[in-house]
Amino acid sequence: MTAAHHSVVDVIRTKRDRGELTDEQIRWVLDAYVRGTVADEQVAALLMAVLLNGLDARELSTWTSAMIESGERLDLSALSRPTVDKHSTGGVGDKVSLVLAPLVASCGAAVPQLSGRGLGHTGGTLDKLESIPGWRAALTNEEIVAQLESVGCVICAAGAGLAPADRKLYALRDVTATVESIPLIAASIMSKKIAEGTAALVLDVKVGTGAFMPDRERARELARTMVGLGTAHSVETVALLTSMDTPLGRTAGNALEVREAEAVLEGGGPPDLVEVTLALAGEMLARCGIHDDPAARLADGSARATYRAMIAAQGGDPDAELPTASHVRAVPAARDGVVRRLDARAVGVAAWRLGAGRARKEDPVSPTAGVVCVRKPGEVVAAGEPVVELHTDDAATLEAALAALADAIEIGDAPAAAPLVLERVAV
Ligand code: URA
Repeated sequence: MTAAHHSVVDVIRTKRDRGELTDEQIRWVLDAYVRGTVADEQVAALLMAVLLNGLDARELSTWTSAMIESGERLDLSALSRPTVDKHSTGGVGDKVSLVLAPLVASCGAAVPQLSGRGLGHTGGTLDKLESIPGWRAALTNEEIVAQLESVGCVICAAGAGLAPADRKLYALRDVTATVESIPLIAASIMSKKIAEGTAALVLDVKVGTGAFMPDRERARELARTMVGLGTAHSVETVALLTSMDTPLGRTAGNALEVREAEAVLEGGGPPDLVEVTLALAGEMLARCGIHDDPAARLADGSARATYRAMIAAQGGDPDAELPTASHVRAVPAARDGVVRRLDARAVGVAAWRLGAGRARKEDPVSPTAGVVCVRKPGEVVAAGEPVVELHTDDAATLEAALAALADAIEIGDAPAAAPLVLERVAV
């Protein structure tokens, strides 16, 4: 059937009335949208029908294929190492990628981490790395492949050629209240990861107040949907659900997070960050058949050496001083006790208001702004001692950041137990 035989209105009506779309309808409508022959308002209506009525496994797999086929697919088959990547649905203080990519590469895998920038209260990996003087996010496909072979890992911007349908659809979802659809989120994430060419993928699906998906049931459903999609497209995929009720590590903010990731690579760093990183590293290595001990690669400096090589290969100076903020304001504990809660979302919003994040995708971010969690849940604090510190170069942002933290800190008499890795989702 040719394009002329389809009516967009029929496609919208079918999904509106809870019908199934044919593979041909899905491919046609997405292709026509990318080429500009179907209007935004028609696709907006279709997206709302999908949000309300869903897509079944076949429809979703075809939808995702159509998004992949809207652009190019990286061919990593010539690499001498097995490929494996990680994707996080995003959390506050989530600097895991900065440690994990070089760590897994130092064990013998190739890690092609094509990333995006932060929007809203969770930071983007590229924004964090851009606080390193000289480091550049934009690489050509040839540079990506060459660096994967020579260093073993790359963290760079996903180029415009990768799943261009997603760019257009995401912008439309953003302004039509259709971001929160599990099939649409799964197709968006997985189309980019499959187009990137990785053979295996580990998903870190965050659950909790700081996560994109606060509810455990929905996070599990998203994980299952993405694992199913990866498997259907021959990418060996598993997911871990991990807790995001409090920030990961002690920092949220670009240069602050780079410094903390470097501390882990030097064999130290906060235990929660190390635990989540090692859990994901173990899954990644298992997916590509490498038997190595990632904890040993952190301890013996090989992960750090790979990190430094990755930064240098992308123009960064791994020995450069990272910038620091000109204003630091402590937020004191109201009483003696144990920190029971330090809310991830509030810390993320505070960091964002201090300048670490952006409101619109063309906004710049501050490398120095952010929040340091001096005390984390489970730790003892005395009245008047700092619980968090606010870092910024713009003192005018401090009051709004403080306001974000108004109900974020709870101090009690006994710690609340909180596991980090909540569950594993596989096919
Ligand atoms: N991240 C994505 O890349 N896409 C979504 O739809 C949601 C989160």
